[in-house]
Amino acid sequence: MMTNTTMPTQSKEHPNLWIFDHPLIQDKLTRIRNKNTKHAVFRRLLNEIAGLMFFQLSREFQTQPTKVETPLEEAKGLKLAHPITLVPILRAGTGMTDGILAMIPEARVGHIGIYRDEKTTRPVPYYCKLPSDIASGPVLLIDPMLATGGSAAYAATILRSEYGCKDLQMVCLVAAPEGVAKLREDHPEMSIFTASLDRRLNNDGYILPGIGDAGDRIFGTL
Ligand code: URA
Repeated sequence: MMTNTTMPTQSKEHPNLWIFDHPLIQDKLTRIRNKNTKHAVFRRLLNEIAGLMFFQLSREFQTQPTKVETPLEEAKGLKLAHPITLVPILRAGTGMTDGILAMIPEARVGHIGIYRDEKTTRPVPYYCKLPSDIASGPVLLIDPMLATGGSAAYAATILRSEYGCKDLQMVCLVAAPEGVAKLREDHPEMSIFTASLDRRLNNDGYILPGIGDAGDRIFGTL
């Protein structure tokens, strides 16, 4: 029997968090977690998950009426009301963009690069290239790992304060409770979409059980 579960499930402890319990996504995530999965397969699975997540979350995008000439007559139709912008955080975020672009090739792609200063432990931006009218439509901030939430919260501050983005959401593969809490504290209006809420961070800032270093596993730089 069909049940109405097309959307991800809202977390009970974290109201800003939506978890994709879709069987295809969970099957692919399990293969991604496997330490023996090599980078080519890892990258493919990550992009496939990103596309599946995007397909579900784009259910909320606004459309507007339009008309189209079929070979036979005029038909009523719908088109997306606003341009969509993807903003992967460098470098691991780029490992999810192709999967989303397969669903929506028209999306614009901005990039934000942030590193953590070893001395101050504060996030420092080193690259930022975004569409000037980015605030004219939904913006998806993308990073496979929401760990401490420091980079994501910083990127969201840039997008909201400097570019005026209001319709801003985060897409990640795996989230740690610490990162979810940080983003909720700094940006309570943002939703986070993830395939899994994992247990916690270890002392080195890695998510447990996690998937290891996402960038290294995507790009084969282990
Ligand atoms: N970044 C990663 O790539 N992996 C983690 O577990 C945490 C942060």
